[in-house]
Amino acid sequence: MNRPLYPLEGVVSWNMNTTCSYRCSYCTQRFVDDRKQWAKDLPRFIAALTALPGDWEVKLSGGEPFQHPGFLDAVGALAAGGVRVSVVTNLASPPEKLARFAALTAARPGLLSASLHLEYADPDAFAEKLAAFAASYAGRVCVTCVATRENLPRLPDLRERFDAAGLRFKVQPEKQDRDVIDYSPAERQALLSLGGHNDTGRVDPDFSGRLCWAGARYFIVDHRGEVYRCYPARRYRQERLGSLLDPAFLRGLRKEAFPCPYTYCNCTVPQERGMVDTR
Ligand code: SF4
Ligand code: SF4
Repeated sequence: MNRPLYPLEGVVSWNMNTTCSYRCSYCTQRFVDDRKQWAKDLPRFIAALTALPGDWEVKLSGGEPFQHPGFLDAVGALAAGGVRVSVVTNLASPPEKLARFAALTAARPGLLSASLHLEYADPDAFAEKLAAFAASYAGRVCVTCVATRENLPRLPDLRERFDAAGLRFKVQPEKQDRDVIDYSPAERQALLSLGGHNDTGRVDPDFSGRLCWAGARYFIVDHRGEVYRCYPARRYRQERLGSLLDPAFLRGLRKEAFPCPYTYCNCTVPQERGMVDTR
């Protein structure tokens, strides 16, 4: 079994709130009872995240993380603690708030992943706003869009248009009830010609049985501090690694790569960072 190299920079995906002003038809959180929850005790979250051993990147997401009342405070505190900060956002926040994010993360910039939700956002206005942000952002920028059946025919043009503006455009298969929807062979082919899930070249990757560093150098944490190995682990309520806010948490973090027990991996980070052998 191939053992992927030790990842020098670990990554945490922190779903810091469930709050969002949109209600996308495909949102994985639309069945959450309370869409107004957010991480409350920020200093404890920040203390735990900045105490992780070695180099780490924290990817902030939600809901819509810019809607967390302490979002910029958290960004500033994480950056001051030496953490690389990235964000997944629907880009609905005012340009001044986006610019503040850029300024706070300038010393160790990460990635701003802008989700284009065609049920709410106009692509022209979205592209214009993102280009203006990117002009003064030291980090990387990309655009993602969910390939609903309705969106799929529009995606090649959108990709061309964002590519022409120097903005990487990635598609994400739609999921319902935990799994990728039942695309027809032609729709699957269309998705693959657009790069597959987040440009990974696959629609619903299966790495079961392979060694993966998720659980050691990658994990996800929600607004309550609950930690799981990766998104499939949380979906199936398996491989819970404890509470980030528990002082004993670090002892529970794994030290080795472990075999993947899931037959569908929608975690882009471990795939893109070589934490699992995707060949
Ligand atoms: S913008 Fe994101 S978090 Fe908000 S409803 Fe849409 S998919 Fe869900
Ligand atoms: S589902 Fe993906 S991230 Fe999770 S253990 Fe498997 S390969 Fe790793």
